[in-house]
Amino acid sequence: MLEHEKIKWKYLIVLFIIFSVTFIGRVYFDNQHYKMMLDSNINQMTSDIQKSFNTSKVNLKDKYLMVTNHFGSDEYVSNLFKNDKREALYQVLKNDYASFKQIDPHLYVMHFIDNKNITVLRMHKPNSFDDDLTKKRPIVAFVNKSLENQYAFEVGKNGIVYRVTIPYIYKNKHIGVLEFGIKPSYFVDLLNKQFEVQSEILVKTKALKTLEAYKKYKQIDKYSIITSNPFFHKLTSMIDLTKNYQIIKMNGKTYIVLTDLNLENFQNEDIAKVIVAKDITKFIEENNSSLLLVNSLTFIIFLLILTILYIIFTKYSDDLKQILTQVDFLHKKSIHLQDKANTDHLTKTYNKAYFDKYLNKFLDIKANGIIIFFDIDHFKKINDTYGHLVGDEILIKLSDDIKHFLREDDIFVRWGGEEFIVLIEDISYKLAIKKANSLRLLVEKIEFTQNIPVTISLGVTMIKDDDSKETLLKRADKLLYKAKHGGRNCVKCD
Ligand code: GH3
Ligand code: MG
Ligand code: MG
Repeated sequence: MLEHEKIKWKYLIVLFIIFSVTFIGRVYFDNQHYKMMLDSNINQMTSDIQKSFNTSKVNLKDKYLMVTNHFGSDEYVSNLFKNDKREALYQVLKNDYASFKQIDPHLYVMHFIDNKNITVLRMHKPNSFDDDLTKKRPIVAFVNKSLENQYAFEVGKNGIVYRVTIPYIYKNKHIGVLEFGIKPSYFVDLLNKQFEVQSEILVKTKALKTLEAYKKYKQIDKYSIITSNPFFHKLTSMIDLTKNYQIIKMNGKTYIVLTDLNLENFQNEDIAKVIVAKDITKFIEENNSSLLLVNSLTFIIFLLILTILYIIFTKYSDDLKQILTQVDFLHKKSIHLQDKANTDHLTKTYNKAYFDKYLNKFLDIKANGIIIFFDIDHFKKINDTYGHLVGDEILIKLSDDIKHFLREDDIFVRWGGEEFIVLIEDISYKLAIKKANSLRLLVEKIEFTQNIPVTISLGVTMIKDDDSKETLLKRADKLLYKAKHGGRNCVKCD
């Protein structure tokens, strides 16, 4: 892969990772938010139901307190009650009881009990009387003793009933107790209507013991289901009473089931529970579809941004590619020009200009090396005899062969005309002289055009630390001169 492609993909992958993390974060945040919303809805609903429940209990109490006070101020009724005239009492109150029941169909008990806890009259069961309630109905005994109103759930002979138990006082004289009992279905209906929920009542099985038929109820945990809402038939087996609430899926619908609404008896002991199930399918579906919408939108935007970035990057990468190609071209061109500027055009060895620069640096850093300065013998004669072109040919051939003989690191320079310099680094003087001789022999053996014999004269000198370009070249030149005068085709050294 080309460099600019790599850069492009690197950035795209980094962006992809950033976007993916953001996207996942968003989905996670949405889910958390949804859970929080659900939690707050559940809390709100629980508190609303609890409040409504309490209000309806107070309303019941107020209503029947008023009725009791009304009877308490009625001399005739009070006297019948006080004197145990149950038949007459029943006849007098029959119509009132019927109209109470009409107003509130859940009214189930209207019970006159004397101050010794003995039943005087059950309006709901006129033939059952004279029974002692002291043990069976602690709420009655308590009210007779304390003369305080009580309203609570209590299991009686005929089932669990919400009792409003009020001391019956006539002319400041305590005659007994008047008790009203409302069926639990009252509360169930109320909740169902008010909150569009389904509910049922569970009573602690232990508390039902006084009830003759207590064993017939279905059980959940330690509770008996005393109402029979068909809705709960299937749901009951899925309810876990150890939890405050549960989200249960049933028949393709989702319900939130609250199990934390407890009902107390008059001694403030939890005796029963209201189970409330609310269909939240719509809420969940709406929420899911809005989550889906938001997430899809985010995803689409994410894809769009990535696509735009891809396009920008591709464009940028094309530009970059062009720039890099141009840079590459310019680089090559500059190398070429540099080479050209440093190269002798005929022999393709380094030229004098390059050598000057190189030598200056070399002398600056005081590196170790030697130079071999050599000159073709009687070259003028060759030119004169064979022509300038042949002279050129010889210069080329000689340079090529010497280039091959030398190491790559050696600097081989055409100093000018038929004069050359070889600069060799890190070599002993002895070896350098040997190498100069090898060069001499090499040239001697080269088969030049038309078998023209060619020789060279050489001077070898060490580069000293205190050398300048001038001192060095002067010394080399002298040695070459010495070689020329020493008969040519020879090596001279210091
Ligand atoms: P010596 O042995 O003393 O060096 O004798 P020489 O003839 O080689 O020396 P001289 O300096 O008298 O002559 C150098 C000749 O090299 C003169 C010149 O024409 C020739 N020459 C210089 N540059 C070139 C070139 O590029 N091509 C050709 N063909 N000849 C060149
Ligand atoms: Mg010369
Ligand atoms: Mg010469």
